[in-house]
Amino acid sequence: MNMSLNWEEIAREDIIVTAPKANIAPEVQGHTGATGLEDLEMGAKRLQVDDKQIINCRADLNQLVPFKYNWAWEKYLAACANHWMPNEINMAADVALWFDPNGLSADERLIIMRNLGFFATADSLVANNLVLAVYRHITNPECRQYLLRQAFEEALHTHAYQHIIQSLGLDEAEVFNMYREVPAVARKAAWALPYTQSLADPLFKTGTPENDRRLLRDLIAFYVIFEGIFFYVGFTQILSMGRRNKMTGTAEQFQYILRDESMHMNFGIDVINQIKIENPALWTKEFQEEIITMIKDGVDMEYQYAVDTMPRGILGMNAGMFKEYLNFIANRRFLQIGLPEQYPGAENPFPWMSEMMDLKKEKNFFETRVIEYQAGGTLNWDE
Ligand code: FE
Repeated sequence: MNMSLNWEEIAREDIIVTAPKANIAPEVQGHTGATGLEDLEMGAKRLQVDDKQIINCRADLNQLVPFKYNWAWEKYLAACANHWMPNEINMAADVALWFDPNGLSADERLIIMRNLGFFATADSLVANNLVLAVYRHITNPECRQYLLRQAFEEALHTHAYQHIIQSLGLDEAEVFNMYREVPAVARKAAWALPYTQSLADPLFKTGTPENDRRLLRDLIAFYVIFEGIFFYVGFTQILSMGRRNKMTGTAEQFQYILRDESMHMNFGIDVINQIKIENPALWTKEFQEEIITMIKDGVDMEYQYAVDTMPRGILGMNAGMFKEYLNFIANRRFLQIGLPEQYPGAENPFPWMSEMMDLKKEKNFFETRVIEYQAGGTLNWDE
């Protein structure tokens, strides 16, 4: 990937990048599993369920059934039932408010701009990690089926930010370059990139404990921290604005994205736990300590993002509440991957956020039109 960040500027912000670098020595390369593009072997033994493995599988990857990982298939179906398109959300109220000189305060505009700046490139970064790094190393067709759907959803999310930026007539270059130019945004992107770089190396193979742990570390970095922690201050800020009837189209876009993202994260956590089940030797005490430190660093970085994007308390929120919220979320993430809670007693200061993820209960919340897609939509052959 050709992503040159302004390292001098980031270094000045005391960024801590602890992730492994991309150079993989040939002696630590393992024996990767199948890719799905091997030559066909005529009359080979038929695939059995037990031949399937979450990583390092040598069996045929082109046979979706018989299912072994039903949870992945179920999430694929659920994701398809959640289909939506960014251009179907009405942005007229947002445009009117954005251009009204008395419409929004400077602090509210800062929140919109910084979050567009972060998310416009963050979902693209997730997509590149999925397609160029993770997909190759997850060796079963059920999970790959979900990954293909997730990759499309990441494209929809980038589309949504583009749609907002264009609707509001913002300076596109300014927004899309924030992850190189604005430290609050750049810090998070720069933290995530080294995790994906090693897996995207064409010479990288799983199959040794060290490299399998590298994959597990990348999955935790992206699913648990990037999508599971780094998205949450921004989501909360924008959705809080929508609850106060401000930037309702933008908030509705973010609500759909949040629903997708919570499923991405849950899928990732299932994959992480399945890798642990099938490869228990990877989950050493030492590795667990490393992951705990990594997640805690992620929490600190996201708290700094809350301070940077919201220097003063507004919209019924302040940075202190975000510290509590991030601790509460991180405790859940620790438990979800089988690690002990690290922030005793942390509570959720934004209980309404969990309702936001269930659009069916919150239909017409923003009093804009909500289009409920269902799987198996009908085609009209007369048109
Ligand atoms: Fe995602």
